[in-house]
Amino acid sequence: MKRLSDARSESVFKDFKPAYDANQAVVEANRCLYCTEAPCQVACPTHIDIPQFIRKIATDNVKNSAKTIFESNILGMSCARVCPVEVLCVGSCVFNEMDQPPIQIGKLQRYATDAAFANGWQYFEAGEDSGKSVGLVGAGPASLAAAHELRRNGHAVTIYDKRDVIGGLNTWGVAPYKLRADDALAEVDYVLGIGGIEFELNTGVGPGEALSFDELESRHDAVFLGFGLGEDSALDVPGLDLAGVHGAVDFIECMKVGSVDLSWVKHATVVGGGNTAIDAVRELKGLGIPEVTLVYRGTEARMSGYSHEWKAAKVEGIRASWQSQPLAFLGGDRVMSIHCAKLNDAKKPTGDTFTIGTDLVLLAIGQGKLGKLVEGVQGVEVDWGKIVTDENGATGRPGWYAGGDCTNGGKEVVNAVQEGKLAAQAMNDYLSAKGGA
Ligand SMILES: Cc1cc2nc3c(=O)[nH]c(=O)nc-3n(C[C@H](O)[C@H](O)[C@H](O)COP(=O)(O)OP(=O)(O)OC[C@H]3O[C@@H](n4cnc5c(N)ncnc54)[C@H](O)[C@@H]3O)c2cc1C
Ligand code: SF4
Repeated sequence: MKRLSDARSESVFKDFKPAYDANQAVVEANRCLYCTEAPCQVACPTHIDIPQFIRKIATDNVKNSAKTIFESNILGMSCARVCPVEVLCVGSCVFNEMDQPPIQIGKLQRYATDAAFANGWQYFEAGEDSGKSVGLVGAGPASLAAAHELRRNGHAVTIYDKRDVIGGLNTWGVAPYKLRADDALAEVDYVLGIGGIEFELNTGVGPGEALSFDELESRHDAVFLGFGLGEDSALDVPGLDLAGVHGAVDFIECMKVGSVDLSWVKHATVVGGGNTAIDAVRELKGLGIPEVTLVYRGTEARMSGYSHEWKAAKVEGIRASWQSQPLAFLGGDRVMSIHCAKLNDAKKPTGDTFTIGTDLVLLAIGQGKLGKLVEGVQGVEVDWGKIVTDENGATGRPGWYAGGDCTNGGKEVVNAVQEGKLAAQAMNDYLSAKGGA
């Protein structure tokens, strides 16, 4: 597997949520009420048995605690760090109703899974060879979770990715103060510990790519599509081609797996109001840019990014220009300023305009959907760029399954893991029913 250089720009970031030591973990675990029909477990998309794993920490049974987590979520280490727990498990903890601090489930999950990594505890073995094979497109969380589940059932798996780095956005997209790329790759190694997960990297699949879908189908008994989302969306305004105007996800990937020189940037601007925009402003600030501004067409109250993340960004000194929309990026060879329109509550121009000086612009207004890749594949339905599946990830073409961002339109790592896992279970049923090696 490709190793990352130590000279990555993301290396400057410290962990924003320091880990518990053993004492802190046991004290926090002992606060848990071990609820039956626990709302935290219901809120977790992978339905980890949270009361059970917490109880095992409280009773000094950390090895089995981690097992409980990995049984439901093999990417439980990264999810402990990157999940928006405030709106999932922690947000549902009964202590919120009692005006007491909720149990820090993410930090406890991190404590147990870090111990498993540090001690090399592996819990799963590949099943007996089924004689069947599955080709998975994309090496992100959805495919990794699916591949692990398929190996548990003895199926051969090959993951194809057009990049040379494994892990998808978990490796090259999520904010480094939550999870750095090298830690994401350590998790990939852990998942591969089951043995027999093969890769063909630098191998795009689909029209115009290295491998056609026909060729993929001819190689395998079933197919899983987990190719995520596409390029950053662009704005249709003059000056988009100026140097210094970039897609935010593209920039984040360069910063996470490589190094970016920002020494000349005094003021950076991020356009957008979602979670990628909030990550981007915090990352730029963390990389040492003195002034960072968010430009968003909505109001602060209606931004789609998580309010707890935006609150943290404000504490770090990020400014925002609400109800504002770029009309043009201005400059010579490089961008020097953005001409913006002020918008009203209906997001219509008020007639007022203003200009912000800036040396760097990141566009964080969404990513394209890749459904068009499979438009020619008979039986695979696409709706607004998303691949249509049933609740178990089956498409309309027998043996073809899909999950993760390419089906849900872009959610969280934990959703991709669950969808990959469910699809793998359904593929196992399909392959078993098919019979004969
Ligand atoms: C900037 C950013 C920050 C995020 N932060 C968080 C966070 O903090 N917490 C959280 O839970 N979620 C976060 N997410 C969302 C999360 O990363 C995704 O939901 C998750 O990674 C989706 O997994 P996936 O496997 O479906 O797709 P991806 O992770 O996108 O993986 C898809 C893989 O498919 C490959 N691929 C694409 N096309 C082809 C092709 N034609 N042939 C072969 N391979 C192909 C890609 O190279 C990629 O490796 C973030 C997303 C972004 C953009
Ligand atoms: S809801 Fe809170 S108290 Fe109840 S089991 Fe979950 S973490 Fe423990």
